[in-house]
Amino acid sequence: PEWRKADVTGTEQSRLDLFIDRMVSQRACLDHAIALTAAMAGPVYELGLGNGRTYHHLAQHIFGRDIFVFERAVASHPDSTPPDDRLVLGDIRETLPATLAGSGPVASLIHADLGGHNREKNDKFARMVSPLVEPHLAPGGLMVSSDRMYFDGLEELQLPPGAVEGRCFIYRRG
Ligand code: SAM
Repeated sequence: PEWRKADVTGTEQSRLDLFIDRMVSQRACLDHAIALTAAMAGPVYELGLGNGRTYHHLAQHIFGRDIFVFERAVASHPDSTPPDDRLVLGDIRETLPATLAGSGPVASLIHADLGGHNREKNDKFARMVSPLVEPHLAPGGLMVSSDRMYFDGLEELQLPPGAVEGRCFIYRRG
């Protein structure tokens, strides 16, 4: 018989490869961004709770800063669920502007992992939501994202060792 690849689309990395790269990159970028912003007092915003793994990582590694989680429907592991007063429930297209009106540009670190399986859809959403995220960052604040963002005034930083190009992005307000 003729040996051939199984009937799946995509020729280079498997979905497992991509998932592992995303996870490894998330941790490397978050650890880097936490360290770079450690001297800042402003809150941390987690956009998209999901299972709560990255929230749990943030909560374990950040000291002295409040972490607010923006999520439309909580479905996280019980160990990784924020207290009610740190949860901003709703669609971020509405909750980000409302929070900005109340709090202003105070965030020291924003992490976004909002995407699903469809890369085109993720990119479209990232383009739409970028201008809603950008004004939240305090001077010197960082944004870590699993999707490329489209900011007017933020600088894109080099990834730390261990992160995979294209799987994670870091931006800074100068
Ligand atoms: N980083 C998380 C973890 O480590 O478990 C996974 C996050 S999961 C990939 C994406 C989450 O973003 C989902 O829980 C989804 O409900 C949320 N989300 C996506 N679009 C949203 C929106 N427009 N408003 C609020 N939450 C949204």
